[in-house]
Amino acid sequence: MLIKDSEFGEVVVRKNALSRGIKFTVSTSGRLQMSVPQRTPDFLIKRLLNQSRASIREKLPIKNPETQRARDYQKKLLMKKAKEYLPYRLDYYAKKFGYTYDKCRLTHANTRWGSCSSRKTISLNIGLMKVPEPLRDYVILHELAHLNHMDHSRAFWAEVGAHDKNYKVHEKKLKMFNPGV
Ligand SMILES: [Zn+2]
Repeated sequence: MLIKDSEFGEVVVRKNALSRGIKFTVSTSGRLQMSVPQRTPDFLIKRLLNQSRASIREKLPIKNPETQRARDYQKKLLMKKAKEYLPYRLDYYAKKFGYTYDKCRLTHANTRWGSCSSRKTISLNIGLMKVPEPLRDYVILHELAHLNHMDHSRAFWAEVGAHDKNYKVHEKKLKMFNPGV
């Protein structure tokens, strides 16, 4: 059963013989899912949903149109900031340490801060604009070092370390941030 809800969008309702109470979860795509005991009548399902609004809002990251819009706006803003900063910062360090790359690409992948392709394109995540500058610089220096070493070998880390003495700390601290926007 599917409920069209003005706040949460489409809510998937699963009637489950084994379930004893109602349970709310969110699918990976951000859709609210409701699991209820097999014989729960429809009117009661809607009432339960209404009664649970506050706690759903509090506990579950639902992509309702409004938060989605706010997120899109934030992403646009971040992209604008990133465009005005990251390519120049990359260029600055490339020149400073004598690297040549082909292109700088801005991404908003959810899992990585940056990458370097064998064709010498360096990709940087716009989410870098949200992390402290030393960590941002570390990512740039990390990707630049990949121009010479397409792996994470000893030689690679030695090169990163030559340009960023605190790279180990920076690598660790970066884990406290999420690349996703
Ligand atoms: Zn790497």
